[in-house]
Amino acid sequence: MKNIYELVRDNLKHLTPYSTARDDCKSRMSIYLDANENPYDNGVNRYPSPHQEELKKKISVLKNVPVGNIFLGNGSDEPIDLILRLFCPPGKSSMLQIVPTYKIYSVSAVINDVDVIDCPLDEGFALSADRLLEKVRTDTRVIFLCSPNNPTGNLLDRNEVMRVVEGFDGIVVVDEAYIDFAGDGSLAGEVGGHPNLVILQTFSKAWGMAGLRLGLVIADSFITGMLSRIKYPYNISILNQAKASELLDGAVQVMDKVEIIKNERQKLYEKLQTLPDVVNVYPSDANFLLVKFRNKQAAFDSLVEAGIIVRDRSSEYGCENCLRVTVGTPEENAALLKVLGTSAEEEKEDGTSLRMAEVRRRTKETDIVVRICLDRFKEPYIRTGLHFFNHMLEQIGYHSMTALDVVCYGDIQTDDHHTVEDVAIALGEAIGKALGNKAGIERYGFSLPMDEAEASVLLDIGGRTDFIWDVRFSSDRIGDVSSQMFEHFFKSLAENLHCNLHVRACGKNDHHIIEGVFKAFARALKQAVYRNPAAGGIPSSKGQI
Ligand SMILES: *Cc1c(COP(=O)(O)O)cnc(C)c1O
Repeated sequence: MKNIYELVRDNLKHLTPYSTARDDCKSRMSIYLDANENPYDNGVNRYPSPHQEELKKKISVLKNVPVGNIFLGNGSDEPIDLILRLFCPPGKSSMLQIVPTYKIYSVSAVINDVDVIDCPLDEGFALSADRLLEKVRTDTRVIFLCSPNNPTGNLLDRNEVMRVVEGFDGIVVVDEAYIDFAGDGSLAGEVGGHPNLVILQTFSKAWGMAGLRLGLVIADSFITGMLSRIKYPYNISILNQAKASELLDGAVQVMDKVEIIKNERQKLYEKLQTLPDVVNVYPSDANFLLVKFRNKQAAFDSLVEAGIIVRDRSSEYGCENCLRVTVGTPEENAALLKVLGTSAEEEKEDGTSLRMAEVRRRTKETDIVVRICLDRFKEPYIRTGLHFFNHMLEQIGYHSMTALDVVCYGDIQTDDHHTVEDVAIALGEAIGKALGNKAGIERYGFSLPMDEAEASVLLDIGGRTDFIWDVRFSSDRIGDVSSQMFEHFFKSLAENLHCNLHVRACGKNDHHIIEGVFKAFARALKQAVYRNPAAGGIPSSKGQI
């Protein structure tokens, strides 16, 4: 692999970027007479932060990547253009893309006077690394892949993409605009070992911020640094940064919407296939479906007649007679199906009896949302910025069979203390709130030795508070969390859930010991919160707990 620096356009290697006086001042100033702004405050009279520090910190937590590997653009359109400008000398270079794919890559290439080479996807819109790499020319600097691909909807095969990354002596951009609809398909974790891999994501789709214009690059810090040097300094406005930051506080709610959209996608996928006018519905990992009709024009016209607009993609390679349909709300999808000649079944979920609670806890050090539903399982959504802690909290979600979401923006640059402690407090409160009057619960849980290590957790959620911790670790840290914080975590949890909690564990490997403890706690919790349908009352001889 070439040194990435060598791939940068010569005229940019020694660029002196525009700098602001505020860049040179490390400490906070109180009087700003450096930028010829109007000093009278109207909310936007100051220039925005060119580095978007606050926003990047939150995004770093949500995306599980260090701040230094993040670049923010005005939509993803801006980084697409900047990547071409950074690596492709105009008139003397080419970029290679799959077809069919997202149009902006080729438009942006033409604007930058960069030649476009097309490589058709295989049957089923699959990527073949070999066939793609055969198309590389000596002047090819950048390859664009889109996964899940637009307009086809499918996630590209991970191994084929990585073969392209490893087999190409240039930049490989993987556009993951739809990745939040695709389970754990992201390649962002590969950036560490692959300096030529550039991941593009956006807040325009799953995150519901298309109107804001906020796109995201995850890449080696050399590349994010170079992009920052060549961008216009104030590319993300004050309003944009503030609104995005506010909306990111609702990450847990965003994930709810994504779950609804994924369910709707599945229903639409099944329903559309039953229509006589539909030839094929392509499997999708995104929030849209590519649908092949016998006569796409007839379908398109009848939809327009009903006020429904979809995207005609029939002129794209391999997409004859295809329309691309975005998954809407359940009502919108039902309207679509009705026009096309079938109906969505009505099924109303009765959520009234579910025990759930949400706790929002904000202090100077942390800003936390914990949400738990004791009567339903879903994949836990855990983001605290501490990888190992995330992993442990996931164990609680998985093994207690609850629906657990935790997002914590904390002062992890200082240390892990506040994040771990405050999450414990919020989690304890949330479980307590979800339990409500505790009618019908089993109340006691206990868990016996786990396979990984010997961990036992005894739990009484009746309301008495006591805590015993008999767990020893051989090292100071486990992953990115200090070992002593785990005792603190369970103690704070016990105090805020008002429970008796006895934890004992031993073993050789610290990771296994603590994982055993979290799993055993989760199992104990599952047993204790279980609501026995046969027992209506309060599980105490006193009649109240
Ligand atoms: C929608 C979309 C984007 C998002 O573009 P923004 O400029 O971030 O709104 C990027 N890539 C693909 C493939 C898309 O479909």
